[in-house]
Amino acid sequence: MDLHRLHGLTEIINAAGTITPLGVSRSSPGVAAATAAALSRFFVIDELQDRASAALARATGAEAGAIVHCASAGITLAVAAAIAGTSAEAVAALPDTRGAASEVVIPAGHVVDYGHSILQDIRLAGATPVVAGSESGCGVAEIEAALSAPGAACLLLVSSRLTRGAPVDFAACVAAARARGVLAVIDGAAQAFRVRALIETGADLVVLSGQKYLASPTAGLVVGRAGAVAALRAQEKGIGRAMKATKESIIGALAALEERATLDLAAWSAAQHEKVARFVARAARLPALSAEAVPDPAGLPFPRAEIKVDAVAAAIDAAALAAALRDGSPSIRMMMHGLARGRLIFELVPLSEPEVDTILARLEALLAAARRKPR
Ligand SMILES: *Cc1c(COP(=O)(O)O)cnc(C)c1O
Repeated sequence: MDLHRLHGLTEIINAAGTITPLGVSRSSPGVAAATAAALSRFFVIDELQDRASAALARATGAEAGAIVHCASAGITLAVAAAIAGTSAEAVAALPDTRGAASEVVIPAGHVVDYGHSILQDIRLAGATPVVAGSESGCGVAEIEAALSAPGAACLLLVSSRLTRGAPVDFAACVAAARARGVLAVIDGAAQAFRVRALIETGADLVVLSGQKYLASPTAGLVVGRAGAVAALRAQEKGIGRAMKATKESIIGALAALEERATLDLAAWSAAQHEKVARFVARAARLPALSAEAVPDPAGLPFPRAEIKVDAVAAAIDAAALAAALRDGSPSIRMMMHGLARGRLIFELVPLSEPEVDTILARLEALLAAARRKPR
């Protein structure tokens, strides 16, 4: 079944990364089959969540886990868990937090926008964000000062290439929160490959997107300490109703976790480096381009291809090339954050060799057309 033809949809080659507006990731045939098989069956959802908890614990080294609608929902529900615990009355009252500690401390450089501001995820639970430090960084002392206010219920840290400023000492900040009885939560939505390192910071809860680098159906995977996970699951009878995991997403996430457990990460990572190196070498042979493989700034185990456009020699600049690639068919999408520096940034992880060939062929054709144009 050709869904694009059936519904008249734009064909995409997605080199823009695991982004929501383009459908995020490509599930494997095995994950897709498991997900589809779940749709026509009934399940005791609590049993599914129990199996998911055990699978997440095995996969990450955490005590327990739960699946919610997406990582954004996971952040809101982790904050809700910090405020309400397992009290049925407090769970039912949210987002009304009157009488409860409901401030969420977040370093200024961690106030990320991944399509909307993470501050809105915090507010959605009825909490009030308290921004600590400055854009240039946030020290443990600044976190401690913010945590010592009487209303503090939660510390939220973000592990992502989207954060700004000097790196925050996660383990020290988590320890400061725990010393005060404040729940420490890490948003590691796109950090599934690094989840063990995030758990090892001592955080109470770590939030991941299943659909990003685990390539499951849309799901938020929340892992951490058993008590904190129980408080998060208590939200299923509260605001979590609007953020619930579906049966097919839980089954799909279980299949994706199983596939990941058998992945030879070193071999996978080596193959990603090779794929990017081949792309970079071919791109650098095109006129007016230079290219390099650039590691992920947050430590994910694959590089991206950065192509620098000499706009004078090429008679076209990076932004115009990106627009032309987007407007062609198939529509080729890349990461946009390099354009201001004259760079096209491609994430190749989900792409097939023919798709990579198409990107290079289209680049070559666009450069040739630009040179033929009278100046
Ligand atoms: C993608 C992302 C999210 C949201 O993940 P969803 O599963 O799409 O809700 C949250 N935080 C960061 C840092 C992200 O990159």
